[in-house]
Amino acid sequence: MTAVPHSLPANLQKATLTKLAKLGIHNRFDLVLHLPLRYEDETQVVRVAELEPGESQQVEGEITHCEVAFRPRRSLICQLQDDSGVVHLRFLNFYPSQQKQLAVGKRIRALGEVRMGYFGLEMVHPKCRAGGDNAPLKQALTPVYPTTAGLPQATLHKQIHGALQELELSDTLPPELLARLQLPGFADSVRLLHNPPPHVDEQALLERAHPAWLRIKFDELLAQQLSMRVHYRKRRKRTAPQLPGHGHLSGALLQALPFALTNAQQKVWREISQDLTQPHPMQRLLQGDVGSGKTIVAALAALQAIESGFQVALMAPTEILAEQHYLKLREWLEPLGISPAWLSGSLRKKDKLAASERIAAGDTLLAIGTHALFQSQVEFKQLGLVIVDEQHKFGVEQRLALRNKGIISESSRAHQDARSRAARTETYREDRRDASEHATKQIDGAVDYGAVPHQLMMSATPIPRTLAMSYYADLDVSVIDELPPGRTPVVTKLVSDARREEVFERVRNACLEGRQAYWVCPLIDESETLQLQTALETHSTLCDIFPDLRIGLVHGKLANAEKARVMAAFKACEVQLLVATTVIEVGVDVPNASMMVIDHAERMGLSQLHQLRGRVGRGAAHSLCILLFQTPLSELARARLKIIFENSDGFEIAQQDMQLRGPGELLGARQSGVPMLRFADIGQDTQLLDSARDMADEMLRDFPAAARAHLQRWMASKPDYLQV
Ligand code: ADP
Ligand code: MG
Repeated sequence: MTAVPHSLPANLQKATLTKLAKLGIHNRFDLVLHLPLRYEDETQVVRVAELEPGESQQVEGEITHCEVAFRPRRSLICQLQDDSGVVHLRFLNFYPSQQKQLAVGKRIRALGEVRMGYFGLEMVHPKCRAGGDNAPLKQALTPVYPTTAGLPQATLHKQIHGALQELELSDTLPPELLARLQLPGFADSVRLLHNPPPHVDEQALLERAHPAWLRIKFDELLAQQLSMRVHYRKRRKRTAPQLPGHGHLSGALLQALPFALTNAQQKVWREISQDLTQPHPMQRLLQGDVGSGKTIVAALAALQAIESGFQVALMAPTEILAEQHYLKLREWLEPLGISPAWLSGSLRKKDKLAASERIAAGDTLLAIGTHALFQSQVEFKQLGLVIVDEQHKFGVEQRLALRNKGIISESSRAHQDARSRAARTETYREDRRDASEHATKQIDGAVDYGAVPHQLMMSATPIPRTLAMSYYADLDVSVIDELPPGRTPVVTKLVSDARREEVFERVRNACLEGRQAYWVCPLIDESETLQLQTALETHSTLCDIFPDLRIGLVHGKLANAEKARVMAAFKACEVQLLVATTVIEVGVDVPNASMMVIDHAERMGLSQLHQLRGRVGRGAAHSLCILLFQTPLSELARARLKIIFENSDGFEIAQQDMQLRGPGELLGARQSGVPMLRFADIGQDTQLLDSARDMADEMLRDFPAAARAHLQRWMASKPDYLQV
């Protein structure tokens, strides 16, 4: 098998190739799967009298008038007449050649969307074809493809139809399975979508509900499921260091804690502990709502690895959170004789180097930091376990790089370097050829991964069922489904900005009673500078209003030492009111803080609000979260605020979030620009997903060759993303 199946025709110009690449088309099979957005109907001609506004229709007749008008704006306006009436054709941009084609007396066929315009019935920028009567009508709907600037539909048509004719589009599904599926064959399906027959149900095509569409979506989901299974099995075949521990350290930590683990914490700890004893790498997702106590479970897992003589890396997506973990774990582990190392991107070069050296020498057993930890320079001597907190906050590329950290066999070092390079480039596509070769090898089982560390990922963002079934199908999942005892639920209040003064008063009273509060500054999407400015202004305003309070300020642009100092002061209750940007969104844990004001809450996303609110309600005191909003509210903002007001369960909120924003956002995949599923929609195609899942199992068991062929077809140019 070749690495890149069916390369594009050699005679294509470089510029065309670049444009095709922009559309994700790298080989002829990609052309086959470049499916139409919609269709134009050139199979029939409609009489002018029967034109209907809103429809895309084709008419035929003689040009009876043609002029360049200047009002309402410069445009070419023609009248086309048949035996039933007149329709106007309007062109805002036009060439002299068009003017010539549309000269009075010419016979024309025009296709376009009909609307009621300035002059009566009109078509704006219709597609015109000279000749009229004697040109044969098309036999099928004309596909309109997604395209990019400078790449005409005609080029796409030609290339796609060439590929359809020349490629052998055999079915990857064995006949037995295909018969059971009751969907059309693959070749028939793509041919129909590119070239629908005259009387096809156009609506079903547009809604992607036509059986041909269902087949394509099914194949895509099947590929995803197969890929997940293959990945899962490969993982079980890879070796990882066995980390049975001896329980002395973890036992001592449990003894020293001021609290007992909840039943849920005990259960997940058992699951993780058991995985670590296995000779193949754990890949477990630990889910638990904000405040459910994941950190202690991570600490116990780290200790088990350390007891077994291996190193542990603990990673967090923000400096503040990483630093907080560092402080917390130092507090817990130093009495046990373990000093964690701190590693972040902002460390001075010298310090980073020193830390890296200690890690490489194996002197440091636990390294805590931001993603600086898995940059390629940092080599561990004996990495046994990687823990990633708030994993959904890491980008897809970072998670990929992470998955491959700690690979210790020589043969895969080059591959690992290529991967971290890929992880650093903004556009993954540049490394696409590497990836594609890798895909083929991976399916053929030729890549030797060597021993890999165990991996524990933690997240407070619960995953709805369909997401779990698709994108996370190769992970094992543990759930902490109860909160530690003694928590009082956070009361949420929605307050309009008009009542800001009252809110000031409440904050002041709370602080004077010895409680602590957060004031979260508005999110400003367009500009970090503006966001910073707002934070500074809010801070100075609050300082003016409350001369008697000790007020701190923390934001992303602050030097890290300063950030750490402010957080420490807040933790020690030296600061009563902490003005903060959303840098405090994840992980920050100051139990005495029992009040939070979120300014301009309408600008925040749901999971963000839930995470922020999770910063309070961590102690025994009654907690209050005030969502200050600016009127008027947009429809979406109103919906979001209503959900956050009515729900405190993170699972419910995530479910509703997915409905509002789509799954990409929830997966943290959107920012990487990588499409995860192109055709299927896991929100809607749940039935297809279910049957794809069942069939994936059966294919791997009974038809392994077909499974390989299917993966080869669908995954050749995107091996990794379905495994993140
Ligand atoms: P999250 O799951 O959001 O990361 P944390 O690990 O930060 O939650 O824990 C939240 C708070 O609850 C911390 O102050 C932690 O010490 C405390 N905590 C954790 N487990 C328990 C428990 N079993 N009983 C009481 N408090 C606990
Ligand atoms: Mg946490």
